Amino acid sequence: TVRVRIAPSPTGNLHIGTARTAVFNWLFARHQGGQFILRIEDTDLERSRPEYTQNILDGLTWLGLNWDEGPFFQTQRFDLYKQAIQTLLDKGLAYRCYTSEAELEEMRAAQIARKEAPRYDKRHRNLTPEQQAAFEAEGRRPVIRFKIDDDREISWHDMVRGKIAWKSSDLGGDIVIARASETEPFGQPLYNLAVVLDDIDMKITHVIRGEDHIANTAKQILLYEAFGAAVPHFAHTPLILNKKGEKLSKRKGVTSIFDFKKLGYTPEAMVNYMTLLGWSPPDSTKEIFTLAEAAELFSFDRVNKAGAKFDWAKLDWINTQYLHAIPVPQLTDVLIPYWQAAGYQFDPVSDRAWLEQITALIGPSLVRLPVSDRAWLQEIMTAIGPDLAAAPDAIEMTRYFFTANVEFTEEGKAQLQQEAAKTALKAILDALDRHQPLTEAGTQEIIKQVTKEQNLKKGLVMRSLRAALTGDVHGPDLIQSWLLLHQRRVDRIRLQSAV
Ligand code: GLU
Repeated sequence: TVRVRIAPSPTGNLHIGTARTAVFNWLFARHQGGQFILRIEDTDLERSRPEYTQNILDGLTWLGLNWDEGPFFQTQRFDLYKQAIQTLLDKGLAYRCYTSEAELEEMRAAQIARKEAPRYDKRHRNLTPEQQAAFEAEGRRPVIRFKIDDDREISWHDMVRGKIAWKSSDLGGDIVIARASETEPFGQPLYNLAVVLDDIDMKITHVIRGEDHIANTAKQILLYEAFGAAVPHFAHTPLILNKKGEKLSKRKGVTSIFDFKKLGYTPEAMVNYMTLLGWSPPDSTKEIFTLAEAAELFSFDRVNKAGAKFDWAKLDWINTQYLHAIPVPQLTDVLIPYWQAAGYQFDPVSDRAWLEQITALIGPSLVRLPVSDRAWLQEIMTAIGPDLAAAPDAIEMTRYFFTANVEFTEEGKAQLQQEAAKTALKAILDALDRHQPLTEAGTQEIIKQVTKEQNLKKGLVMRSLRAALTGDVHGPDLIQSWLLLHQRRVDRIRLQSAV
């Protein structure tokens, strides 16, 4: 059976690139009825942090990318790596190298001066035990290098990119598979070694990862051979690029999955969007699907070789589709905590019907969920620039329902300073008494009557009414807003204070 894995390093929060690789692994596993395994590659002891591991687990869970086995931790598997190093040393396939950083630097500089590609020159391949002892006596600690002969052609059939071939002489010479360590005689095992041993041990059949690992794959194939293990299939997925075609950078803007959550994207929209970053379904007009639907259609034939450009407008569009599909009661549940955090006064139980009506009113205009941290949002919008469009904010849009007093915009104020506006509002107040209890038909009739009797333009009547009730001249449906304010008995007060 098919077994794939996602193998993040916990040296940072779950990144969109890793998450997208996880999506492709997950889709492939589910399509094949195989297993999706989670392995935390925490061999870099200085940079790995438990909170990053937690962030990665939480992020995958939030996205719905459930794993069948794991999480496994490489730091708990060092015995396996040490044994393997011993085996390679015993077989003469690896050796201790004592070359110092300064010596390596000198070697590199000389090679560059000769216009050669920098590579390790094998100088410690055949040290005698006496030479080794002398280096040890100097206090040098060895790295372990894996021998890479120069004359090998390494090739594989990549599931995305077709045939890939590498010359072993282009791999930079004998690779370091364990770093020097004061405490460990075998050093500290490094990525290329640990990943191969784990992929063998975990019976991984398909290695699906970013194209930045292609050179590693060439090295790793030699390690599979050294261990006498079957080489898995490989798929190298295209990188995610910004609009200019550069790799997404962590410093400029948003790359961590939970930042997307914070920005107001739903997990369903995020996975749907990530699925389309480099893959397209056979019917490319259908772009909205669940993970399960995508899994049914997924294959590497339809994964692009070219980098996938990140497109905020498209993500917004997909998010809109999901937000608008959320039933009103559920969306109300989502919005209530935001309203509470904004300090709005209401009773979630007794005001429930009223809250749902507000949700129904503004729901169709939502693009993203609200962001409570306004300062952060401002920072992000500045960093990303115009690509990330401003979105209607569900907190701001509904403010006038919850506040005791209306807050006026400049336009709202200007509207109410007109004499005609005051005339209209006085007439509306009079008519209001004659239309109790107030219904939707009643509100429409009031507007019609006032327009006619006062000989005013309907637009002016509506704009003035909106300004008095909401403080602004733009906003959600006026009649519905009025009825909702009427339920709270604030419409009359607001009209009175405007005349
Ligand atoms: N720990 C590696 C990374 O985060 C995993 C690469 C692989 O999938 O082999 O890039």
